[in-house]
Amino acid sequence: MQWETVIGLEIHAQLATKSKIFSGASTAFGAEPNTQACNIDLGMPGVLPVLNEQAVTMAVKFGTAIDAELGHRSVFARKNYFYPDLPKGYQISQFELPIVGKGHVEIVMDDGAVKTVGVTRAHLEEDAGKSLHEDFHGMTGIDLNRAGTPLLEIVSEPDMRSAKEAVAYARKIHQLVRYIGICDGNMQEGSFRCDANVSIRPKGQEEFGTRAELKNINSFRFLEKAINFEVERQIDVIEGGGKVVQETRLYDANKDETRSMRSKEEANDYRYFPDPDLLPVELNDELIERVSGSLPELPDAKRARFASEYGLSAADADQLTTSIDVADYYEQVVKACGDAKLAANWMNVELTAALNKAGIEFDQSPVTAELLAGLLARITDNTISGKIAKQVFEAIWNGEGTADEVIEAKGLKQITDSGAIEAIVDEVIANNPQQVENYRNADESKQPKMLGFFVGQVMKASKGKANPQQVNQLLKEKL
Ligand code: ADP
Ligand code: MG
Repeated sequence: MQWETVIGLEIHAQLATKSKIFSGASTAFGAEPNTQACNIDLGMPGVLPVLNEQAVTMAVKFGTAIDAELGHRSVFARKNYFYPDLPKGYQISQFELPIVGKGHVEIVMDDGAVKTVGVTRAHLEEDAGKSLHEDFHGMTGIDLNRAGTPLLEIVSEPDMRSAKEAVAYARKIHQLVRYIGICDGNMQEGSFRCDANVSIRPKGQEEFGTRAELKNINSFRFLEKAINFEVERQIDVIEGGGKVVQETRLYDANKDETRSMRSKEEANDYRYFPDPDLLPVELNDELIERVSGSLPELPDAKRARFASEYGLSAADADQLTTSIDVADYYEQVVKACGDAKLAANWMNVELTAALNKAGIEFDQSPVTAELLAGLLARITDNTISGKIAKQVFEAIWNGEGTADEVIEAKGLKQITDSGAIEAIVDEVIANNPQQVENYRNADESKQPKMLGFFVGQVMKASKGKANPQQVNQLLKEKL
């Protein structure tokens, strides 16, 4: 039997507001447990929640960015359930009338294929607290700092057909929320969380199979692994004569497997009803227009512009528009050094490799756009060769100064004085009579390859500083 995978994602993006969604308590990460939850976050008797306007603005930003229908009237609802990290017994969320309605995003696969993924809705809600199992023996600690932190839950259509598509979609949403500045995207700290709904069906069948919802996925790599594991599990279940049950499963990254956590609740188990303490939200056109006017250039538009304006390959344009910071850095370097292709290569190869090696993020790079541009300018004006430039880059990375300072201090300036190069060439020819004879006796078709030996010797003798074009030229003449 040929099986087809069906995936829909529920993404929780923590909105980057300073205070909580219904109270003035701080949302800063990492505070001492239970120091940032106030009476409103805990739902103490008699408190009144007040909606944070920033959270609404951010949701509208997102809706505009995915070209969604915006709910002109949306309502907060209570989702009732019991859990130790939710002492008030209900979560304030949105149910029937979410703030963001149907929208869509485009994903690009490795082979260049473009696919549109539907977003069903995105709604505002508050986060719950956290159960802490480590550091407690036979007990669980409860930290309520996170209670009341604003979340935007982004629900996709079941449009993805492979783990790779699901990852591409999740990455796209991740990129988008960071571009528009509504979420810091930090997956380790839980500011961007992904639940994957996975089912399979016989290829060609229209009706969906029963889905399992996978939780506890905190990286894109694990998202892909968790889905692939789950698909294999479901195939085994069905081909073994069993049935997939609708349930929530936990992904265990250490064992690379999913295991059952609880059977899935139906919506009516939650007894949703409109929160009597909160007024419905009415969005007016003026607000929507103001927000859409404040959006930056979005990733798709930027990628297309980079490809056409700077003549970049699709892969280069993609990599250089990963984030607004990377894109701005690139444009600064191009402006200062004048060579778009060279700037793209240095960022995507040398700089990326150095960042990976040091295990640091782009925004921690010790080489600023200005420093990199200064280096590239010395390549384009032939002060140094591309090879020496790598050495200079390393010195700049280590804080030894600007390109000009490093070139000066280490005496790395390219030798372009033809008299000086000629002297080295003559010396190399004099020192290698046997190779010279071989070269001269060789077939013309073999000579270019043999020339490499002499070029290497000259470069070595000049400590890599001789201008390679001149060296080639002179050697050909003299040999
Ligand atoms: P719930 O609120 O119970 O989780 P939803 O209807 O909100 O249910 O759907 C949650 C997610 O599950 C959505 O992203 C949707 O696309 C996805 N989904 C629904 N049915 C399936 C299915 N059969 N296979 C895979 N994903 C599905
Ligand atoms: Mg849901």
